[in-house]
Amino acid sequence: SERSLVLVKPDGVSRGLVGEVISRVERKGLTLAALELRNVERSVAEQHYAEHAGKPFYESLLEFITGGPLVAMVVEGENAIAAFRQLAGATNPVQAATGSIRGDYAVEVQYNIVHGSDSPESAKREIDLWFPGV
Ligand code: ATP
Repeated sequence: SERSLVLVKPDGVSRGLVGEVISRVERKGLTLAALELRNVERSVAEQHYAEHAGKPFYESLLEFITGGPLVAMVVEGENAIAAFRQLAGATNPVQAATGSIRGDYAVEVQYNIVHGSDSPESAKREIDLWFPGV
């Protein structure tokens, strides 16, 4: 089986969508290996989004992600990475299919409710960052 780092970002938490995201993960057949409500330090956000350093939206993205509590989890199961990305839908919510989390609940690319690792390499890096030792 495989593991993915999933975040319910601060917009998802403030809008009361934590249970909805967890429900969809569980109904899909994935399981939770770790879960915590977090206030994210800037240094963790910078490491998480290192690949976006220097992009026009980077500063705004860091402010958003550190601006309120988020829920971090490790999701586990066969094909967990691709399975969660399918649940999440396309990065831009107006391109995400209806029925996906972003397609159903979001309208703006920055405020797209969830994050999910995009490869086994990023999943390992992200799980080591968010849940060292898990
Ligand atoms: P995530 O990594 O959060 O799962 P993703 O892999 O689908 O999203 P990336 O391209 O890695 O998308 O972008 C990371 C995050 O940065 C997006 O989820 C979104 O919140 C934000 N983002 C991406 N592009 C933009 C943009 N043009 N303007 C504002 N925010 C953006």
